[in-house]
Amino acid sequence: MKLHQAKLQHSFFDTFKHRGDLHLSQVSPSGLQQPVLVSANRQLANELGLDPDCLDSEAFLQLMAGHITGEHFNPIALVYSGHQFGVWAGQLGDGRAITLGELPVNAPSDASGKPILWDIQLKGAGTTPYSRFADGRAVLRSSIREYLCSEAMHNLGIATTRALALVDSQTQVYREEVESGATVCRVAQSHIRFGSFEHFHYRNQPEAVKALADYVIQRNFPEWQNEDNKYRLMLENCVLKTAKMIAQWQAVGFNHGVMNTDNMSIIGDTIDYGPFGFFDSYDPEHICNHSDTQGRYSFKNQPSVGLWNLNALATALTSLISNSDLVSALKQYEPEYLNQYRTIMASKIGLEQYQSDDENLINQLLELLQINKVDYTIFFRSLADFSTNNIDIRDQFIDREGFDSWAEKYRIRIAQQKLSAQQRKQRMNAVNPKYVLRNYMAQAAIEAAEQGDYSEVNLLLSILQSPYDEHPQAQKYAGLPPDWADQLAVSCSS
Ligand code: AMP
Ligand code: MG
Repeated sequence: MKLHQAKLQHSFFDTFKHRGDLHLSQVSPSGLQQPVLVSANRQLANELGLDPDCLDSEAFLQLMAGHITGEHFNPIALVYSGHQFGVWAGQLGDGRAITLGELPVNAPSDASGKPILWDIQLKGAGTTPYSRFADGRAVLRSSIREYLCSEAMHNLGIATTRALALVDSQTQVYREEVESGATVCRVAQSHIRFGSFEHFHYRNQPEAVKALADYVIQRNFPEWQNEDNKYRLMLENCVLKTAKMIAQWQAVGFNHGVMNTDNMSIIGDTIDYGPFGFFDSYDPEHICNHSDTQGRYSFKNQPSVGLWNLNALATALTSLISNSDLVSALKQYEPEYLNQYRTIMASKIGLEQYQSDDENLINQLLELLQINKVDYTIFFRSLADFSTNNIDIRDQFIDREGFDSWAEKYRIRIAQQKLSAQQRKQRMNAVNPKYVLRNYMAQAAIEAAEQGDYSEVNLLLSILQSPYDEHPQAQKYAGLPPDWADQLAVSCSS
């Protein structure tokens, strides 16, 4: 398919309009001035069935910059509310994301033969009726972070929104200083948040809560449409997907930073990349968001905040689901989280099956990593080479004897398996990434891009799209971060 605007608009579905009263607003994006394509995501374009040639076209750039032509487009914005830092904040979004339409993509694996719909959304294309006093813009800096990190997460196997394109411009955006306005084209099978349901629940509009739930079910879970307990199924699915997503965050060392209920997706995607961070050395107390002075969203709090947020979602669904069903759905969170986390951590140390004693082995290792300030990503990658001679692994610890005594237990445990060292290494390298998007890497790409050089963004995109592979041209990003990386502060301002 060619992605000329005319072709794209005709291929778009416009299901929002026909799905009950979703309280949405039609909006006209305000395009960026003198837009320049920073990056187009060819991997995603291919998955969406888009013609790769059109990514270089002027029409694609203009569309991604928010210059919409043609009367058939019906861009919309969807309102939502949320709990921010545990406090009910009322209506707060979506003031700067505009959904252009839904792209049907044929999924060969889908037995129903029906295409899957993907929302194509522009973040930063001007104000909507929900912008309050803000400008509806996004700055280049935060757009680069979202663009790169969402693709990094996807390629780490973590459910997330995707990003199709990133556009820079001459539009001036006023934050603490003047910055370049940018757009990210965000792509997801749903952009509905927990806060979308809360919005109507707290406005005492149960019919709107129902319309939204019906919309999500028709759109994302059509197989449940005729089930009596379809709302409960939707909630249970969200509980399980959220538990898995957060277990994966914990296992890879990802700190989201702003787990407000408006930043939680009803389909369990990682959504809204702001002041996120991957920690360098293992640190459960890690707080990536400079504005989070109390550490509510610290690394170690993420699993329990996930449940807090699901409780908020359940509360918003009380008009649709009985109390006992809400409670039984929420009760599935903790066992699912633990099951997922243990399975992933076992695989990270090369174990085929998690056994109950492995918890000690894993916890002792994490404690050693923490005390010795060992780099998390580098350590797990290096552990694949564990053998009789472990100098490179051992040398990462100040307390070498501490490592030796752990290594002895580890040696006994892996000897219980039938895997050869080579097989174990292969499996471990498929779950322990060589590359994650550390803050300093994003910063290097941002600083170059702010000078008009987008090559680092594209280099990072390419390595983060295959994070388990070796990338000799990006060896500098596989080692320890530079000293200045510690000083980087990231906050909510974007
Ligand atoms: P965030 O903290 O980035 O998740 O933002 C919370 C909400 O504030 C989002 O739903 C946005 O729609 C809205 N918002 C953030 N920045 C802007 C902006 N520059 N203009 C309009 N709305 C914004
Ligand atoms: Mg948000």
